Amino acid sequence: MSAPTIRRTALAAAATLLVASTPAFATHSWGGYHWGRTTKQFTLQLGNNLTTVDWRNHLLAIVSDWNSPDLFGATFTPVLTAIVGGKTTSSCSMVAGTTQVCNARYGTTGWLGLASINISGAHITRGTAKMNDTYFTTTTYNTVNEKRHVMCQEVAHTFGLAHQSETGASLNTCMDYFSNTGANATKTISTRPNYHDFEELNMVYGHVDGTTTYTAAAATAAATPSEVDITDDPQSWGQLVRQSANGRSSEYERNNRDGSVTLTHVYWTVETAARCPGCDHRYEHHDKPD
Ligand SMILES: [Zn+2]
Ligand SMILES: [Zn+2]
Repeated sequence: MSAPTIRRTALAAAATLLVASTPAFATHSWGGYHWGRTTKQFTLQLGNNLTTVDWRNHLLAIVSDWNSPDLFGATFTPVLTAIVGGKTTSSCSMVAGTTQVCNARYGTTGWLGLASINISGAHITRGTAKMNDTYFTTTTYNTVNEKRHVMCQEVAHTFGLAHQSETGASLNTCMDYFSNTGANATKTISTRPNYHDFEELNMVYGHVDGTTTYTAAAATAAATPSEVDITDDPQSWGQLVRQSANGRSSEYERNNRDGSVTLTHVYWTVETAARCPGCDHRYEHHDKPD
């Protein structure tokens, strides 16, 4: 056995053991949430609402990566993605059966990226990924690798993946919190998925469902803001349910009147997190970025 094979086998074995007892620690799935589908593999539509060529090129690269498990030592992915015309505006209202991808100057909110999913039971029914240009146009964050890292992560949250690490260490996956800024701005580590991300997707999607919650048809109606959406007001995220020790990663949860739940992953800036790691950053003043 080659060294990588041994490592993978050990990882898989460890993961399997842990799944049996403590699922929350075993995996980095987002609560096991997944799109309902009746086939082993499906194609999730990513609505392109991006306003710059730069972001569009990043999305192209990210889609190519997530569609190519073979590049990362995996043999299969249950989640293929396809870029389709955007159906919303910068507010990024949700569109049933799709993930809408957006960028805008959302203001000095303290966050770089935001991913929300609406879930019904265990099934994801819609998702959004938002990138905040208020920060991504500043010297610190306007780097190819940081933009790629954050967008790769926010989009993949809507597949049902959570983080592999939140410490800031690089596991060479975009599902970690390594910062591709400053002295590390030219580093390409942590800007793409890794083998374990595909392993995780294969676990989460290891069954087929009786129902489908993604949209297969090419055309979908334009978004009409609905009460399952989150808005530009962070109060609409609901309650803070967990936050990493360093304050960079938070998860919020809101119960909707229709019985569904809207979950949001927030990727805070280094500065926001450092000022008060244990605070709910929604209630802090965020300085204008340099
Ligand atoms: Zn299912
Ligand atoms: Zn995240």
